[in-house]
Amino acid sequence: MTAQNEESRSIVEGSGGSESRSRAVAPDVAFKTIGNETRLAILDALWGPMKSGTMRFAELRRTVGMRDGSQFNFHLGKLVDGGFVEKVDDTYSLHQAGARVICTLRTGYLTDHPEIEAFETAGRCYVCEAPLEARYEDEMYVVECSGCDRLHTRGWFPPNVLTGRTPEEALLVGERAMKASIALTVAGICSVCNGTTVRTLSRGPSDVPVQSGILDVERDGGIRDWYVCSHCSAWVTRSPGDAVVDHPAVVALYSNHGVDIRTCPRWELPWTIDTSVLDVVSEDPFRVRLAVAFEGDERVLTLDEAFDVVSVE
Ligand SMILES: [Zn+2]
Ligand SMILES: [Zn+2]
Repeated sequence: MTAQNEESRSIVEGSGGSESRSRAVAPDVAFKTIGNETRLAILDALWGPMKSGTMRFAELRRTVGMRDGSQFNFHLGKLVDGGFVEKVDDTYSLHQAGARVICTLRTGYLTDHPEIEAFETAGRCYVCEAPLEARYEDEMYVVECSGCDRLHTRGWFPPNVLTGRTPEEALLVGERAMKASIALTVAGICSVCNGTTVRTLSRGPSDVPVQSGILDVERDGGIRDWYVCSHCSAWVTRSPGDAVVDHPAVVALYSNHGVDIRTCPRWELPWTIDTSVLDVVSEDPFRVRLAVAFEGDERVLTLDEAFDVVSVE
């Protein structure tokens, strides 16, 4: 380890030759560097698509609104030393680290904790036919039955999604983002950190590879697959129904009735939630049949262990 400045733990050179050299900052030092109102204002001033990309010292100080030039220089210097801001001659711009700080703040995850009380949304409970209700709390949206409380869908979206949108619009945006996140994760790429995800098939509660306060393994531990990131431990889970929403036979079934399935949230597709539509017809090789029904029409798909469709009836 080579000390680069007075904070001896802050910058380390990775070993392993020039091709694998890295410049790393200890996490606590990074947070200490940005934990200051003026420094966050500097990062914010440098951020945005309409900026020229660089700002000169005087312009930057004027934008932040700090009269004391030496104090301003001190804070700016800390951001440069910490790798958040790049200095070339007399101009300053953001490194990715600085940009990511501002992006994270603007999601609202760190600072805003809004709640939306339950409101009625489209769709009916597949168990009792009662209307569905959605709510948002703890940065999570939940869609449940208003009659029997059966959970239909849930997922996270950042508080910022509520800005300028009605609760119903925000709910649909969150659901769309969650579907995109699942698609990326299933492709082996963690949607949080782009690390590698590992898949596990669960057949029952004891197979669930995730421990989380939001999981009820008796309810959630049926036939599903689970993707856990090897790097950051973020996870998503998918039902066999989730795996076939873009299969041509399913897309055509909905299209025949004038509905674009891509616009349907999962709570309007009961066969993605209802486990009674599943039937394990073979153990070795593993085969599960899934009945996809819509407006009196039905397709029965047989899926293998990877949830790939092997036949359609
Ligand atoms: Zn119900
Ligand atoms: Zn990850």
